[in-house]
Amino acid sequence: MNEKVIYLDNNATTRVAPEVLEAMLPFFCDRYGNPSSIHRFGGEVAADIEQARRHIAELLGAHYRDRDDCASEIIFTSCGSEGDNAAIHAALAARPDRKRIVSSAVEHPGVLSCLKEWERRGYEVVLLPVDGKGQLDLGVLERAVDRDTALVTLMWANNETGTIFPIREACRIAHAAGALFHTDAVQAAGKEFIDVDDLQADYLSISGHKLHAPKGVGALFARRGIPFAPLILGGHQERMRRGGTENVASCVGLGEACRMAKAVLDDERRELARLRDKLEAGVLANIPEVHVNGDMEHRLPNTSSISFKYIEGESILMYLDMHHICASSGSACTTGSLEPSHVLKAMGVPYSSAHGTIRFSLSKYNTDADIDRTVEVLPPIIARLREISPYWKQR
Ligand code: PLP
Repeated sequence: MNEKVIYLDNNATTRVAPEVLEAMLPFFCDRYGNPSSIHRFGGEVAADIEQARRHIAELLGAHYRDRDDCASEIIFTSCGSEGDNAAIHAALAARPDRKRIVSSAVEHPGVLSCLKEWERRGYEVVLLPVDGKGQLDLGVLERAVDRDTALVTLMWANNETGTIFPIREACRIAHAAGALFHTDAVQAAGKEFIDVDDLQADYLSISGHKLHAPKGVGALFARRGIPFAPLILGGHQERMRRGGTENVASCVGLGEACRMAKAVLDDERRELARLRDKLEAGVLANIPEVHVNGDMEHRLPNTSSISFKYIEGESILMYLDMHHICASSGSACTTGSLEPSHVLKAMGVPYSSAHGTIRFSLSKYNTDADIDRTVEVLPPIIARLREISPYWKQR
């Protein structure tokens, strides 16, 4: 492909930062030791993993002292979904006498599918509704959490709309009833300020490939002092909390990505929001019958979910693809299905809008030129699709 790709699908996955790749490379052919080995060749690699763990802890505001400090609160995982599954598993094991789990209807399948399985095993799962902005009602949450609730698990930021939940208040409500609190922060890490100590969350999961580290690595914050039953049983790795030889290069890559994200978070957030707002302003000014979904006051700076009424999102994506512009019609995990996303459904977005919804998600590698080009090509695409849409004619 000669023409430059304009990649606006960063909530699906991100480009690995060149600095991250560089940090990883020595661990494939030169420093390939097993961190659990006694010899120095392996032992030195263990020190690199610990440095990565420290960078992750610093991005999340977790405790970290040194390698032998068993209180370290960061556990490496293989992905965000594993972190979500492991947190839910650990929380239920830590509160064995409680049989209720409270979550929301708009969680990622990494949480929802896992909860379905726990429901099958006899737990009562309560999925809270959201309003038209995808926002949670704290009064409803408070009424749903009772003394039988083992865990409240709520995403920090929604992957489709970017809506940010009132996590701090939700955590306080969970703790007031003696329940544990997990947040899926996969879309928040590297885009929002996170301080687990201030928040007092018990578990928080992140995923490398959403913040310019590779796919196939993630991390779970698990608060010290709470017994942790591992999801993956195996060797002594991760202080007995996750068996399996560490994916050393990727752990190092995730550490470097977290270090970089922390160093420039403030500036990056501002720049992402500027580009996102420019995109939305350009679309709204040039195309009729469009609507931006989500909570405009509490939203990720990089995410824009836009409904183009009376047409199919899949067709818009195809035309954008011809112009080498990558976006998404909802969460990547649901593409292939013609059903509108469960998030838009839960928000009550009407069918005529939900079907024509595109998620644009930006990263630090996007430029003004990317946005200008997108705003230039979109109006004729939408006009053309509406010309042949029976719904547009009947409206
Ligand atoms: N949680 C959220 C909010 C996500 O957006 C994703 C991925 O899209 C995940 C969890 C799953 O992460 P992973 O792909 O690393 O398993």
